[in-house]
Amino acid sequence: MSVRVRFAPSPTGPLHIGGVRTALYNYLFAQKMGGKMLLRVEDTDQTRFVPGAEEYILEALNWLGIKIDEGQGVGGPDSPYRQSERKDIYRRYADQLLEAGKAYYAFDTAEELEDMRKKLEDAKIDNPSYNAVTRMQMKNSLTLSKEEVAERIANGDPHVIRLKVPLKEEIRFKDIIRDWVVVHSSTIDDKVLLKSDGMPTYHLANIVDDHLMGITHVIRGEEWLPSAPLHILLYRAFGWKAPEFAHLPLLLKPEGNGKLSKRDGLLGNFPVFPLQWTDPESGDQARGFREDGYFPEALVNFLAFLGWNPGTEQEIFSMSELVESFSLDKIHKAGARFMVDKAKWFNQHY
Ligand code: GLU
Repeated sequence: MSVRVRFAPSPTGPLHIGGVRTALYNYLFAQKMGGKMLLRVEDTDQTRFVPGAEEYILEALNWLGIKIDEGQGVGGPDSPYRQSERKDIYRRYADQLLEAGKAYYAFDTAEELEDMRKKLEDAKIDNPSYNAVTRMQMKNSLTLSKEEVAERIANGDPHVIRLKVPLKEEIRFKDIIRDWVVVHSSTIDDKVLLKSDGMPTYHLANIVDDHLMGITHVIRGEEWLPSAPLHILLYRAFGWKAPEFAHLPLLLKPEGNGKLSKRDGLLGNFPVFPLQWTDPESGDQARGFREDGYFPEALVNFLAFLGWNPGTEQEIFSMSELVESFSLDKIHKAGARFMVDKAKWFNQHY
């Protein structure tokens, strides 16, 4: 089996250093395994689209020497891995789940959903809210007659498509970094797959694409670990084999007090972005490593060590040496502190 990985950023702002590290680990792994890495721009949430973000991502990867084998900006018009251009594909797959009885239409209005949320809150039930029990009290294709559903759709009544999450199913998978993860389906909501504007949610688009693009290993930030059980349920609903998962440890603030955020870069204390960025709306400027005089090789070396260790004394690595030494099983579980002094140290030694 040849390895295929992807870097799948959402163009909601400049590429944060955590995203660069994710891209780098995907790249190192693909190179090491003689596999391919593709770039997929996840831009289905049009409300969060930020102009210039996609160009920034491509420029940052290019500056750092992280080469993409397939995808937007590389393969030309034949390989446009941009989710907003693949809407029809997601719709087809949502329909497939509807036909198989694994998903259903839901017509509830924002007020009705809010009422249900309040009811559950009063009954001290917080999560999940739309599930095997509550769905039977709501307005959806499981409770309305076939005729009424057809009529509502013909009338253009706003509706979404939800996944019919089974009430009792164990979801168990082995994450390459986190080891075994076991979750019960009763803790998962009937997640929306297709929104009322016809756009897929992140979950549907992400797993349909990972399947169609032949992804063998999903290597991404730990913030996506809570979504993985839902993704496994989706793979099961389609009858597809799930890829391997590797969730990377968080990047922590230099003092170790919480997650490193984009805000840290906007405050200007130290760079958190590979390149300088000016926010198109606020005009806020974030410092970039490039403009701060860092060599791309030094930044790559620094990032490689944020959560990974070759297990030897060697500290200064070229990209090809990193490829040679890289393996997913040497990635740490614990969060990695973002020590900017260490980045400076690498820069001085290059
Ligand atoms: N679009 C998601 C992000 O911006 C990708 C998550 C994933 O890799 O599955 O991080």
